[in-house]
Amino acid sequence: MQVIEFQIRTRQHNEMIDITAEVESIVEKSGTANGICLVFCPHTTAGLTINENADPSVRRDILTELSKIVPENDPDYSHSEGNSAAHVKASLISSSVQIIIENGRLLLGTWQGIYFCEFDGPRERKILMKIIEG
Ligand code: ZN
Repeated sequence: MQVIEFQIRTRQHNEMIDITAEVESIVEKSGTANGICLVFCPHTTAGLTINENADPSVRRDILTELSKIVPENDPDYSHSEGNSAAHVKASLISSSVQIIIENGRLLLGTWQGIYFCEFDGPRERKILMKIIEG
């Protein structure tokens, strides 16, 4: 199956956006009963993660703690574009997630959602997906 691409518009400088519904809908349209769904973020200042989708304070806490570990401004940063914090956070979070597809559905835990993590927004962003049957 070919690479599938979709866009999202982020609204904040740092933000976690639930993309579970979009990913589920693409998997459903593909007609894949069983396999692996790879979701990939082709950006150096954003990433993807899977975490709780019930209590929004979890997302807030993740972003707050990441910003404590990686401050927005640090005199030790040498990257001239001025967005080193976003690059570091993107590497800490990772650029892809993989989810098992079983009987046409994503095998996520009850409280899990797939999040696009913006660290240098707001921007238009692209998300790539590849579904591997098996
Ligand atoms: Zn940069």
